[in-house]
Amino acid sequence: MEVEGAERPGPSCAARERGAAPAPAPPPGSLKSVERRDRSSAESSAAHLQLHSAGRAAAQPRPAHLSSASQARAGQGRPAAGGPCRSAERGRRTRPEPTSTSEDPVRAVPSSRALPAATMTMLYSLLLRLFILFFLALTRYVVIPIWRPDIAREPVRDVQERGVPLLHLYDYVIVGAGSAGSVLAHRLSEDPSVTVLLLEAGDNEDPLLDVVAAYPTLPNGPHDWAFKTTPQEHACQSLRGNVSSWPRGKGLGGSSAINAMLYYRGNRRDYDHWRDHFGLKGWGYDDVLPYFKKSEDMRDPALQDSPFHGVGGPLTVEPYKFYAGIAEDFLEAGKDLGVPVHVDQNGASQTGLTRPHGTLRDGLRCSTAKAFLRPAADRPNLHISLRSTALKVLLTGGAGQGAGDLRAVGVRFRRDGAEREVLAGREVILAAGAVQSPQLLMVSGLGPSAALRRAGVPPVLDLPGVGANLQDHVGLAGLVWLVDGAENKTTVATRSASLQSILDFIRGHGGPMYGLSMGEVLGFMSTRYANASDDYPDVQLFMASISDAGDCGQVNAVNLGLERSVYEAVFGPVLLRDAVTCLPLVLRPKARGSITITAPTVDTPPTIDPMYLSHPDDVGVLVEGAKICRKLMETKTMKALNARPNPNKFPACDHLELLSDEHLECHARQYTMTIYHPVGTCRMGRRDDPLAVVDERLRVRGVRGLRVVDASVMPTVPSGNTNAPTIMVAEKAADLIKEDAKSLNQTSRVPPRGQCMQGQGSCTESAPISTKEEL
Ligand SMILES: Cc1cc2nc3c(=O)[nH]c(=O)nc-3n(C[C@H](O)[C@H](O)[C@H](O)COP(=O)(O)OP(=O)(O)OC[C@H]3O[C@@H](n4cnc5c(N)ncnc54)[C@H](O)[C@@H]3O)c2cc1C
Repeated sequence: MEVEGAERPGPSCAARERGAAPAPAPPPGSLKSVERRDRSSAESSAAHLQLHSAGRAAAQPRPAHLSSASQARAGQGRPAAGGPCRSAERGRRTRPEPTSTSEDPVRAVPSSRALPAATMTMLYSLLLRLFILFFLALTRYVVIPIWRPDIAREPVRDVQERGVPLLHLYDYVIVGAGSAGSVLAHRLSEDPSVTVLLLEAGDNEDPLLDVVAAYPTLPNGPHDWAFKTTPQEHACQSLRGNVSSWPRGKGLGGSSAINAMLYYRGNRRDYDHWRDHFGLKGWGYDDVLPYFKKSEDMRDPALQDSPFHGVGGPLTVEPYKFYAGIAEDFLEAGKDLGVPVHVDQNGASQTGLTRPHGTLRDGLRCSTAKAFLRPAADRPNLHISLRSTALKVLLTGGAGQGAGDLRAVGVRFRRDGAEREVLAGREVILAAGAVQSPQLLMVSGLGPSAALRRAGVPPVLDLPGVGANLQDHVGLAGLVWLVDGAENKTTVATRSASLQSILDFIRGHGGPMYGLSMGEVLGFMSTRYANASDDYPDVQLFMASISDAGDCGQVNAVNLGLERSVYEAVFGPVLLRDAVTCLPLVLRPKARGSITITAPTVDTPPTIDPMYLSHPDDVGVLVEGAKICRKLMETKTMKALNARPNPNKFPACDHLELLSDEHLECHARQYTMTIYHPVGTCRMGRRDDPLAVVDERLRVRGVRGLRVVDASVMPTVPSGNTNAPTIMVAEKAADLIKEDAKSLNQTSRVPPRGQCMQGQGSCTESAPISTKEEL
């Protein structure tokens, strides 16, 4: 659905740069004058922190505003590469700085008794950080063990803890126990005559992962690989080093154990496009729908009879147990705009706003480990080896021994500091995710030859598509509207982390600990870059009951790496105020990035370059998406809450009119956010597709006995979150693998000895070889 009245993209920033004139003084009552009012009211307020005082929050005094010094520091934002950002830098340099604060009412002189505002912001942040840490520790070490033993369940025992020796030979060796790997391990080990080894670099899930509201605190923790991208030229300009932080799950459940749990499948046209454009037989929507349904246990009674949903599968899907009160206003705002609301965005039509469903069980996280691995973990034919990092795929045949003879025969891995090898009689299956599956292929000699040589890896097979075609959903963070009289409806960290929340959690009644404040309502909308009549929205909106102001920059800004001085300038003046966020996200980005290796080992993180906002249409869609946000915030429902944009702009965008196209573009390039959906780096494709890494049966081209099954095989990113699509891929892959085994009448076999690839060590010399009868 295209929102009526959404304007055409305005003149490009480059155009503005050519003829930009300084903005005229704002008329009374304009957005600018509101901005000034808000800023000066923030300045005049005394700083004061009140914990757990929802009722008093409306009257809560605000912290003092930035001092001239900190403002000046904030103004030293990093120069941006994009048009508006360059022009912003120029604008700042040419504009004379006020010589005294009396010339600029925005900049207050701190009273002699008050601490400087920047110090106050720091103090708040520190206090809040300590408070969050205390709250998490209380939940993890006191509340859960004593009152929620259902969460503090037995860990999955890995093979050694079960007292079973690891075999030398399995039918299938799966690398990675994430979204896809857990599904594969479950499905392949359904046949008791087949032996399966699941290697996972991380460990068991921590009970805290189950708590929905803990989600934003998980990045950079023990369950996160914590990757970083390369500095971005067109995006991330206000993030430290211009890099984007890429959390990826490490441990059972992989990224499904640290993700936001949103259950989305994308649009039916995504899969029809895979079938029709990429020629991938068997991957059209009608082909994949049964696999979405197969894994699903839809627990929302309203959808249980829907032809689009499944009941009884291992993966439970429910509404979140808590939505903040503002969710209702967001939906009303949608109605005001004539947008469909309460739609099943995984059903007949995707367009509209709704409260999302999540991969949840009784309100708690349902990772793929909980859904698929726990029920299978004690099967005698499934061995799970934790803290086991795959180092290389072992190959035989190939270059020196005749083309077409290349075969994956096993995996070398490291556990507890010791390296060992394990053989796969039938197949090695990489399910290490869109970052590490291509990395593993490359360190094993399978990838673009020139790049491999540069990294010190002797190429075995030239596969130019490995690591190419990287796609990710990119969004515009920090678009905040202040609201009044909504203190019981919005989320401010100091209010949500309360004794009442803990009591609600203990009783299992709901409350903020069951809520996903960053996605109270999700929207799928069409900008004018998409055909509205197609029901193929190109933008996703995350409507949040929280803002960067509401957590003192201790969660979102820290996770994204926002420069501290910029945080102080943009959110410092509205710290802990009632505010909401609307985050637009490009659903079908046109930018293509890459993953490459710089060293011959998985221990060196790969180089990740998503090329965010390098395509002009991507930033255009973001700007149009942000304008839909603005329209929602200008509806009578949101006006009743006095919704008004945060008047404090990013320093690099300060000269641009608030929420103008140019300002939104500049903002997007400053505070660029990924929603952590990388795909496409080992893409599926036809035989004649030079960048195809796997065929439509997910077999690596030119190598027998090797598949990739995870988010990396998707040729394009689906128009929605990627966990459910990855699970679908694995469900289908399991059937393909079983079919192929049957048609080849495969029995487990010991690979031929003495044919290891050069530099691969003793791939088949590990004796004695055990057989599956030993299980
Ligand atoms: C913070 C975050 C929030 C997200 N939010 C959502 C959401 O709300 N909804 C949604 O649908 N999607 C979301 N996603 C995306 C979604 O979770 C992923 O697309 C999906 O989990 C990818 O699954 P995968 O199997 O490809 O990889 P992963 O689930 O990442 O699994 C890869 C596994 O391989 C292991 N591994 C890697 N290398 C090795 C090695 N060398 N040896 C052994 N093991 C190895 C890893 O430790 C990991 O367990 C989010 C992702 C993140 C990170």
